[in-house]
Amino acid sequence: MLIYLLLNTAMKMKINSNLPIQTSEAVIQELKYLVPARSYGYVAQLISTYNIKFKISRPRKTKLGDYRFDPRTKIHAISVNSDLNPFAFLITLIHELAHYRQYVGNRRRVAPHGEEWKTEFRTLMAPILEEGIFPMEIAEHLKKHMINPKASCSDIHLMRLLEPYNNDATLKLEDLEDGDVFRIDNGKVFKRGSKGRTRYQCVEVSTNRKWFVHALTKVEIVNETVINL
Ligand SMILES: [Zn+2]
Repeated sequence: MLIYLLLNTAMKMKINSNLPIQTSEAVIQELKYLVPARSYGYVAQLISTYNIKFKISRPRKTKLGDYRFDPRTKIHAISVNSDLNPFAFLITLIHELAHYRQYVGNRRRVAPHGEEWKTEFRTLMAPILEEGIFPMEIAEHLKKHMINPKASCSDIHLMRLLEPYNNDATLKLEDLEDGDVFRIDNGKVFKRGSKGRTRYQCVEVSTNRKWFVHALTKVEIVNETVINL
């Protein structure tokens, strides 16, 4: 029943079945290891019916995934980082597929995460929210998130819920105290200051410049005596 419902939804969302399939079978197969098992049939169906070139990307620090349309080649390309946990991978993939559907459905330029995108995101998420694909806590939060979805990364609560499913449990900026000195992975060293909504105001030790660093940034604590020498 689950598979039938998911496939049926995927078929209804078919945009144009005459378009060439852009994503290789090998990539679709690889997805099996990246999304929650019960969602695989659904996402594989979406990717192979939509006219998109889907790519599993090496980890990028600046984004989790992206959607691009190249007007020259007319190719819609979607990529998602390979290092995401299965739930984050699935949500990111659906997020990018919603950009594709929004672009195809509204030729005119609209805000990237405006009403049109939100509608597409909700439509694509709906079938997987009810099917026991996500752990209860995440499913409950996602249902609330769907009322007014934001770009996933800026939903700090959602990202925190997904964190325990990541393979590496590393120290994050929010785990430190104000005044602690830390290094981020570009090598810069900061002192943590007060917290805003999602970012901390920090001071770069070498330049004394103020920076806003996201609460979930991975950090390495620095022994202050080393800095003061
Ligand atoms: Zn987006």
